[in-house]
Amino acid sequence: MKYRTVIGLEIHAELLTKSKAFCTCSAEFGGGENTKVCPGCAGFPGTLPIFNQGAVTLAVKAGLALNCQINKYSVFDRKNYFYPDLPSAYQISQYEYPICTNGYIDIGGKRIRINRIHIEEDAGKLVHDDLEGVSLADYNRSGVPLIEIVTEPDISSAEEAREFVEQVAQRLKYAGVCDAKMEEGSLRCDVNISIMPYDATEFGTRTEIKNLNSFKSIVRAIEYEYQRQCDLLESGKKVIRQTLHFNENHGTTKPLRSKEEAHDYRYFPDADIPAVLLTDEDIEKIKATMPELPDSRIKRYTEEYSLPFADAKLLVSEKALSDFYDEAVKVYPAYKQVSNMVLVELLRRLNDTGASIDELKFTPAQLAELVKLSDEGTVSKNAAKDILLIMFEQGGHPLDIAEKNGFIIKDDIELIEKTADEILAENPKAVAEYKEGSQKVFGFLMGQMFKKIGKSASPQTVKEILNKKLSNL
Ligand code: ADP
Ligand code: MG
Ligand code: ZN
Repeated sequence: MKYRTVIGLEIHAELLTKSKAFCTCSAEFGGGENTKVCPGCAGFPGTLPIFNQGAVTLAVKAGLALNCQINKYSVFDRKNYFYPDLPSAYQISQYEYPICTNGYIDIGGKRIRINRIHIEEDAGKLVHDDLEGVSLADYNRSGVPLIEIVTEPDISSAEEAREFVEQVAQRLKYAGVCDAKMEEGSLRCDVNISIMPYDATEFGTRTEIKNLNSFKSIVRAIEYEYQRQCDLLESGKKVIRQTLHFNENHGTTKPLRSKEEAHDYRYFPDADIPAVLLTDEDIEKIKATMPELPDSRIKRYTEEYSLPFADAKLLVSEKALSDFYDEAVKVYPAYKQVSNMVLVELLRRLNDTGASIDELKFTPAQLAELVKLSDEGTVSKNAAKDILLIMFEQGGHPLDIAEKNGFIIKDDIELIEKTADEILAENPKAVAEYKEGSQKVFGFLMGQMFKKIGKSASPQTVKEILNKKLSNL
């Protein structure tokens, strides 16, 4: 490859506030068209914005999760442009004084710098009805609070871009800032991309691919656009500064509008909204509500708990899972055994049924206790799996379930001896084969034993007694 890829991202994340940014309408996704609208978010003249402080708290959390500087002074500006999904003809955003600046996240040992995070409002949605030949406007989304996260052009491949967006999405979810559902549009990504020869010192002309809404599209759009720009330069043409739309079906980009010059949005401070002022105390208070983030959890799991990296990564893939694990090991700190029970048995049940952690009918402490029962030999490993299934389906305490179902290992020697005598008497053929040196039938006889005694005997004891009986025959 002759050319280096240079990528900067602009990520839009909808904030998880109950109401909109500048009015009291519900910010919830969906619902009938124009049912979550008031004169304010419909852009009627003469209405005044009431700012939702919740948006500031969430934006600060995003800043903290992405290692940003939190600015104690930030200002809302009007970004003026006309489009039918924007009834006021200006979007309230932050321009010169954004709420967060200078962040970063490290991916695979490389630092990707974040230039800024600012708060803004979302626009409405246009529905194009080709049959009737009309376009309809739905303003339910109009005024929903967003943050925009803008990176420096530090990303150099499609894979790195995907990894970055994944990390951002995960951190925002952990911090409760955004649900990051790309399929519902609560997280969307614009990709700025240019190419340059490896020995060049200046960036090439960039294009901007708008509104990518899946990880797959981000990767495909970058790969396509990289090739398109290479082909242009190779054939002696120039890349034009353009805004592009990525067509998912064709896997190609197409110009939306040309952008030879910088936009002229005529930003100016919105005189109806006071500046956002934060004190150190405010910021500390918000900091105190932040959960431990995934990278710190991975470090704790691998370094302090000695879990394999892959297991640690899987545990943190969802905050609820990681929280569940943390609660369980507080009760019984057998890190590896609890992790195995969670990652193998519990995840299997969750995947099979499509249920989520929050819907579980048992507590982390109960799972911990189950692992302990198995470790201490009160129940066998196999019985533990059966107990988990019962807990999963009906809830309940592991010890009670074990008792009710006769899973407690009692090792009633008399009973085991009696059963062994019966089994050997009932299976003369197997016994003969064993005597002739077939080890395979031993397993069969063990199986017959457990069928009769159930899970209350320990495999070691049964094995010993069966061996003794066979050699005495
Ligand atoms: P604008 O105000 O036109 O949107 P910005 O300077 O805010 O421009 O940059 C927008 C995004 O474009 C940022 O993510 C930035 O990292 C990225 N970017 C800037 N220059 C380039 C370039 N030459 N190639 C790729 N990305 C770039
Ligand atoms: Mg921009
Ligand atoms: Zn409203």
